[in-house]
Amino acid sequence: MVMPGALGDYISAAGSNFPTTAPNSSAIPSIVQTTSYDATAECQSYSTNFAFTSPAFPTVWQSALTGTNSSSEFQAVYNSINWTAVPNIPPKTLSGSSYNTALDPDCWWTATGCTKPKWPGLQPDITACPQPETWGLTYDDGPNCSHNFFYDYLQEQNLKASMFYIGSNVADWPYGAIRGLANGHHIASHTWSHRYMTTLTNPDVVAEFYYTQKVLKMVTGVTPRYWRPPFGDVDDRIRAIAQQMNLQTIVWNLDTNDYEAPGTVSVAQVQNNYNAFITMGMNGTFAKSGNIVLSHELTNTTMQLAVANIPQIKAAYKQILNVQECMGITQPYVENFGTISAVNTTANASAVPSAAGTTTTVVVVAASATAAAASSSAQGNVINTGDSAVTQTNAFVTVAALALATTLLLI
Ligand SMILES: [Zn+2]
Repeated sequence: MVMPGALGDYISAAGSNFPTTAPNSSAIPSIVQTTSYDATAECQSYSTNFAFTSPAFPTVWQSALTGTNSSSEFQAVYNSINWTAVPNIPPKTLSGSSYNTALDPDCWWTATGCTKPKWPGLQPDITACPQPETWGLTYDDGPNCSHNFFYDYLQEQNLKASMFYIGSNVADWPYGAIRGLANGHHIASHTWSHRYMTTLTNPDVVAEFYYTQKVLKMVTGVTPRYWRPPFGDVDDRIRAIAQQMNLQTIVWNLDTNDYEAPGTVSVAQVQNNYNAFITMGMNGTFAKSGNIVLSHELTNTTMQLAVANIPQIKAAYKQILNVQECMGITQPYVENFGTISAVNTTANASAVPSAAGTTTTVVVVAASATAAAASSSAQGNVINTGDSAVTQTNAFVTVAALALATTLLLI
């Protein structure tokens, strides 16, 4: 698929300024990020001195039009969209009081769960892995600082998830995104500022997509071709804009509700959800096709729940795959890139005594590989670490930035 006009031109140029990486030479820098479980040290090293400032980028956690709206770059991107191919649906109010849910003319997921667009020519949303007995592994709302224990655990378990990254988080902690890609996860977009997309104007929607693509391209060297709407909030107007910006929608068919715990939902209730989904792997529910599960790397609670349940998920299901793998997506990014050279990360002896001196070596294969090759590449990975989930649990930390992100997400 070809990036249209100005959109592709600007994103192609975006990789030239950030001082780190291109996808084929991606290596995690030798910084505390990869060697510590201390939150302060991790968060310092995940960040960068590079200034993601306007008009090149929006202000983080603000509308993606903030500081960018009047720039010639944004105007060119906006004008590159063929607006006659976008349905004339007004921005919605979330009360939805005036919306005809019976007819569901806009295929509005939030109102009806619709995933098969009504507007001609739109791709349907991806909702579930097609293979039987397959758990579709996805984590939203990263990257973030102080998640090394979680990414280390996924490495140990040889699991590659679909990671839906928020553009503002990528700008705040770019090395977190670099680690995600280098670890072989499937990187996808989760918009710039995590708003209800159907409530936004067309310029705001374009900006939310565009600047997330731009920051990911600049930081990691890749431009995702898949996205997940925050809160699942998508309709045919948003899908039509996304599709022109080379983004296909991925939602889910099972929701752990983990992001609401502890709070609106208790941790025990989320665990009950996990238990029910694990049982579905054994009772024939997924005998003919699989699932995609909504879960988050957002907080220590959501990551602890994920880590605690992965052994049971592995036991109950035939396989755990990310969306790229299970959908057989051969080109998850606009760029076509192949094998990334080996990445070494060395755990810090003082931070986690049990992990002293252990080294993890991972060979990452992504993007141009076929789904089969992507799956089989896992067998080529050398995972050698003494960490255990139990010892890593002791390294779970609380970070003020996470609390801020949570607040923003729950409004
Ligand atoms: Zn989210």
